[in-house]
Amino acid sequence: MGKHRILILGGTAEARQLAAALALRPDCESLLSLAGRTAEPMAQPVPTRSGGFGGSGGLADFLKVENFDLLIDATHPFAARISHNATIAAQQTAIPFFALRRSAWKQEPGDHWTRVRSVTDAVEALGTTPKRVFLAIGRQEAFHFESAPQHSYLIRSVDPVTPRLDIPHAQYMLATGPFEETAERALLIENRIEVIVAKNSGGTATYGKVAAARALGIAVIMVERQQPADVRTVETVKDALGLVDHLFSPMKRGV
Ligand code: NAP
Repeated sequence: MGKHRILILGGTAEARQLAAALALRPDCESLLSLAGRTAEPMAQPVPTRSGGFGGSGGLADFLKVENFDLLIDATHPFAARISHNATIAAQQTAIPFFALRRSAWKQEPGDHWTRVRSVTDAVEALGTTPKRVFLAIGRQEAFHFESAPQHSYLIRSVDPVTPRLDIPHAQYMLATGPFEETAERALLIENRIEVIVAKNSGGTATYGKVAAARALGIAVIMVERQQPADVRTVETVKDALGLVDHLFSPMKRGV
């Protein structure tokens, strides 16, 4: 019998960990798909492909032409477009499909969160009074803050923000997580940060700033995820492996 072919949509630590675990299974053959945005992507434990598919139709074609048996969406919780495309492509092709999405952070005692639905709502939530803001939402949506030029921004991203924002007070720093709480605390103090804008990504790698904000009594504007509708979802790599087992168990073959 041939190997089960699995397409993993990645760009996250969980996708990399899942690929590594699946690489140990002699009955599976995985391909990890990356968007191709990061200039120096991390080494991956399985073969990779890079770049968009050309929408849900392109992804559906790719799944069929390459004879995949399973599609796993292990992209970042805020990568909404590819997740939407994956849902449609799975429906079109009737290929088994599930999402691996780490759970969101929950507000704890001592947290001063303002929860918003989008980055544009986060801009509004900053208010009109000038503040010192730590922008930790990645580079792609940083441009929204050009409409609030009264604030001073410290903008951290993995790759450079290009073009630079058309605002008078912005400082840029390049860094790749994980970010520990102690270092985050020092960063917040050193830059006299009054408010953090963050995405509720979940996981441990970027939680340091949230814990540091709690310890220092700093406000956080938390952009919440918009949950995709009706997608079978697991929250851990362990559960994803269990579901792969279940889907490829002899009883299920041919489904
Ligand atoms: P997005 O807005 O949901 O996707 C935009 C387009 O990029 C998609 O329509 C697709 O192009 C292509 N694409 C995205 N992920 C892909 C993948 N894994 N393989 C192949 N094509 C992909 O995504 P995004 O927010 O720009 O994120 C891009 C990548 O960075 C994702 O892989 C995600 O896991 C990772 N990431 C995102 C964030 C974040 O905050 N958004 C944070 C960390 C990592 P086509 O329509 O042409 O197929």
